[in-house]
Amino acid sequence: MIIVSNLGSNVNEYRALVDRCRSGDREALRLLPRSCPNPKCGRRLHGHGWSTERKGGLRLHRVLCRRCKKTHVVLPWFLAPHRPHEMDPVDQAFRLRVQGHSWYQVADAIAEFSLATIRRWIRRIHDLADKVVAILSRDARRLDPELHLDTLLRPFTGDRLKLLDAAIAAFWLACRRIDPSLDFPASRPLAWCNVYLSTAAPATGTEQGEAPIWL
Ligand SMILES: [Zn+2]
Repeated sequence: MIIVSNLGSNVNEYRALVDRCRSGDREALRLLPRSCPNPKCGRRLHGHGWSTERKGGLRLHRVLCRRCKKTHVVLPWFLAPHRPHEMDPVDQAFRLRVQGHSWYQVADAIAEFSLATIRRWIRRIHDLADKVVAILSRDARRLDPELHLDTLLRPFTGDRLKLLDAAIAAFWLACRRIDPSLDFPASRPLAWCNVYLSTAAPATGTEQGEAPIWL
């Protein structure tokens, strides 16, 4: 599966980090994911090489869990899983749709992708929204049992994208009760979600297996 990690905020920072990791820089290596993403396992992961299959020649790290006998790919958070492009336009399309812009306004704002592609992203987000809202709500309640989650989410139950947006904001509210210095990733909520979901266990009531990741 894919483990999305915060390894620099753009291509240049990521490349620099990869160079440091590959030259054995311990501080850089510590930033790579260390435990198995399988919620029933959690054992330490072992490095399993660097691939170059990604468009643009970016190297992606592979890790191996010896207990599960599975390799996983470590994806920097700004890249869209299974796609050769970055997450920023996906986040932008999501934001514009939540704000009520028409498909044509969204397509005008994100000129480098076709309307069909943008609609496919949004459909995927729409399809996964319920699962993600369930995971974020569960974890927000764990972080802050006094959070009035139902009050925060109820106004948006008729619109999955708005509900997802509200669940992300509610989750951050819960995080900030614990650490007020946390910065909300306002322009990259879905990219951030991917980082979170790649380590979160599926919520109860949703099917077992991997936590959902956009695209
Ligand atoms: Zn494992």
